[in-house]
Amino acid sequence: MLDTPTYRSCPSCETTSFTPWVRYSQDDWQVVACVSCDLTYLRNPPGHDALKEDFAWEKTYAAKNAKSKGSTVFSPFVRKLRGVLNMYRDKTQEFRHWFNDGHVLDIGCGWGQRILAPMTPYGIELSTELHKISDAAMRERNGYCLHGAGAEAIWEFGEAQFDGIVMFSYLEHETHVMDVLKGAHRALKPDGAVFIRVPNFGSVNRWVIGAKWCGFRYPDHVNYFTLATLTGIAKRAGFETILVNTFTRHVDDNISVLLRKSAVP
Ligand SMILES: [Zn+2]
Repeated sequence: MLDTPTYRSCPSCETTSFTPWVRYSQDDWQVVACVSCDLTYLRNPPGHDALKEDFAWEKTYAAKNAKSKGSTVFSPFVRKLRGVLNMYRDKTQEFRHWFNDGHVLDIGCGWGQRILAPMTPYGIELSTELHKISDAAMRERNGYCLHGAGAEAIWEFGEAQFDGIVMFSYLEHETHVMDVLKGAHRALKPDGAVFIRVPNFGSVNRWVIGAKWCGFRYPDHVNYFTLATLTGIAKRAGFETILVNTFTRHVDDNISVLLRKSAVP
């Protein structure tokens, strides 16, 4: 069941004035750009309870895939090649470039398979079914998974508990972005880092393809970041942003960044 719609101000700078993105709004979902910091966001996101069951990402993802593969200017062959490469890429080995081996939290961890040995996995998962699966998997590897919304559950972990925090295809779903980023800042060790991967609203694909771009998903994508707006909100939460996919940024449908605690908060 849908919660009563609530209208939010900019999740980055809290400005209430916005410019509607009429061509990117669909049905009753209002996609707007903040007039102050330029962040594009869904103004009337569903509540967490609705997302937990009605809009669980695994359902909308399946529905979207059934309808269309999600458009990009790249050919089906390149998409398939990317899919195969992603499947075989060991995410833990990738994260070892960015974090010390140790305690690593995966927010929106899905099945709980992204963080493997030698790291100790912790997770937060909103979907009831996926949480059960990931908690069981993580307990076998000496960690555990909390059931709930990232912006709330992250505050249940200890201060400076984690060497690394992963937000992989998560932050675009989180209505309370600032709460989760500040929570991550608190839960991170001083030399730790946050890895973030989100759809790239600044990509060439989005400019060329417009409303049919594969990054749009209604209503479960509630924030549409460019590198600039992601850097801006991270700075407000006390982080410096380092771009990971430097060379492919403009043509990549995703942005990957690493956040480190700013020297001066
Ligand atoms: Zn703003």
